[in-house]
Amino acid sequence: MIVLKSVSLFGEKQTDISIADGIVVSLEPTSEKGIDCSGLVALPGLVDLHTHLRQPGFEASETVLSGSKSGVAGGYTALFAMANTNPVADSASVVEQVLTLGEAAGLLQVQPIGAVTKGLAGAELAGLGGMARSRAKVRVFSDDGMCVFDPALMLQALTFVKSMGGVIAQHAQEPRLTEGAQMNDSDLATELGLTGWPSVAEESIIARDALLAEKTGARLHICHLTTAGAVDVIRWAKKRGIQITAEVTPHHLMLTEELVRSYDPVYKVNPPLRSAEDTAALREALVDGTIDIVGTDHAPHSIEKKDCEWENAAFGMVGLEHAASVVQKVMLEGGRNWRDIAQVMSSKPAEIGGLTNQGRLDVDTEANITLIDPSATRTVTSQTHSASTNNPFAGVALPGAVVHTLFRGNFSFKDGEVVEK
Ligand SMILES: [Zn+2]
Repeated sequence: MIVLKSVSLFGEKQTDISIADGIVVSLEPTSEKGIDCSGLVALPGLVDLHTHLRQPGFEASETVLSGSKSGVAGGYTALFAMANTNPVADSASVVEQVLTLGEAAGLLQVQPIGAVTKGLAGAELAGLGGMARSRAKVRVFSDDGMCVFDPALMLQALTFVKSMGGVIAQHAQEPRLTEGAQMNDSDLATELGLTGWPSVAEESIIARDALLAEKTGARLHICHLTTAGAVDVIRWAKKRGIQITAEVTPHHLMLTEELVRSYDPVYKVNPPLRSAEDTAALREALVDGTIDIVGTDHAPHSIEKKDCEWENAAFGMVGLEHAASVVQKVMLEGGRNWRDIAQVMSSKPAEIGGLTNQGRLDVDTEANITLIDPSATRTVTSQTHSASTNNPFAGVALPGAVVHTLFRGNFSFKDGEVVEK
């Protein structure tokens, strides 16, 4: 029996959490002794629907183990691993390989995402059925990094996931409008001499796919929204009754294109950092519920891929270890509470991804729990548990700190240290 004493459950009542055999058995005060958690907010373990774990193929940037360590340090108990590995996770054998690596690391639940198209090439559908029936039980399919551009293929993919209760997670980017793009399309791009990435490239694909989702009755999830116009399209689609969900990253909530003035590739990301008006619209949409979840798009890259000229640098930023702090700041400043934070970082991502054992903190549920000190302030550093250091928040002071993470009733992160299996 593990007892977490004097937690602040969802930032509300103070109580104890009793855990036996990996299951929460009581949320009431008890006379049993345990671990003092006074002052710590207890939430269901965080769930990231959008993580790049880079293995197999890019182990210099991240492995399933190093990414899992970074995840538990950020309060996560489940990570959905994106499919753009090498080989691509477009078959039962590769998704099962990722699942097995996650089980071996043993720190949190690694749930593979399957590619929509073979090799992410956008030409023909991958073996979605085989991945769904595999031991990895894939329910989320995405060509993230690439947009599923062909509307006929998108229609087929949506029809398939409708039949098996899955979802397509689309990286919305019209490729013909973003050829050679390096940053947001704006006056600043002209000034800096970099090719711009227009908002309409994102918004037009979201609108098209919303209509395809309506036609098929399938579930559609839009990865990493970045523009005010994209928020408007999502609002319109939801009002129409379309089964669409939307995600925002920590960096798009707080960072703007002004950072690109430094030409520091740590700020190079796909989709790009946008204007201050866009980030304000994204924060408002997260607070008012138009945007359903925060996904990190944790995209580690080795120093070789980032420490070079802007044009040659890889797109992407790490995100797992500061996401909760960014969301705490945005949601609490926006007048929402810890229950709402649990919704956007745990319950809803688990629901979208079909993980019924995650996203809940209640009696008789699996003991996947995050304990956060809400009053802490810390300065983000690029030296984290990730194998990569491409952190755009390095040097930024943020509120809140993850103190403990429990996965299936065992500490995976305790007093600020990873507890290796
Ligand atoms: Zn993406």
